[in-house]
Amino acid sequence: MQFQDVFQKKHLIFDGGFGTMLLAAGLPAGASPDQWNISNPDAVRAVHEAYLNAGSNVITTNTFGSTVPRQKRGEYKPADLVIAGVKIAKEAIAASGKDAFVALDIGPLGEFLEPLGDLTEEEALEYFREPIEAGVSAGADCILIETMSVLDEALVCIRAAKTYGGGLPVLCTLTYDIRGYLMTGETLEDAVAALENAGVDALGCNCGVGPEQLVSLLPRFIACATKPLIMQPNAGLPEYRDGETVYLCGPEAFAAEMEKLANGGVWGLGGCCGTTPAHIALVSKLA
Ligand SMILES: [Zn+2]
Repeated sequence: MQFQDVFQKKHLIFDGGFGTMLLAAGLPAGASPDQWNISNPDAVRAVHEAYLNAGSNVITTNTFGSTVPRQKRGEYKPADLVIAGVKIAKEAIAASGKDAFVALDIGPLGEFLEPLGDLTEEEALEYFREPIEAGVSAGADCILIETMSVLDEALVCIRAAKTYGGGLPVLCTLTYDIRGYLMTGETLEDAVAALENAGVDALGCNCGVGPEQLVSLLPRFIACATKPLIMQPNAGLPEYRDGETVYLCGPEAFAAEMEKLANGGVWGLGGCCGTTPAHIALVSKLA
């Protein structure tokens, strides 16, 4: 199957949280998970394998922070982290024998564009160009721009993906608050229109909130979006216990809310912070 064919499917199952899985596997707190693509590839491959076994049709590369601003203190170049990350994901799919795809993960730069910060649009475009070109050369099937909470940055990233992405499909999910606003104040209706205008192939939201909050926002997405919708919420709203952020929505409760999203017309189903292969195993039954 070609990736383009997935747009004909009623539902597509993405994967779940990655960072927390690597922390559980011994990644030191505060370290960049992306570094393990080179220094501990077996641990990264094991997470991909767990999600493939759980029923993911699309696995997302461990490259969320593979950009110059996020790797300033790192040992490895972002392009090398991306090439290694795509290779590991492809190996995991080949070993599983499943018909699954590799989404090249691109996260926010961690620095603000002008006028909020110092970054110019051209600098940001170059920062995004590096992982995108590396991911295309390594054989990714699509580009997944995610956890963007600043609309301008998402739009620059989409421009980079359309310019340097070798024609790969571009998917983009933003992070909204419980009332459907981005951090920079735009409504989801404004953001959806801007993303569609920029030429994305699918769009939606990830992180920030749990599935229950997205069920409330869903009618607004359905009313304004014409492209397939992707929703990858956290395992509930964050809670704070003993100085740590935790997500307490278990697999059954998570899947029950995801079922409402699936029945309500959401195409791409997956999870973000706090979700595990156990969550995705139940979500994959909805496909
Ligand atoms: Zn998240």
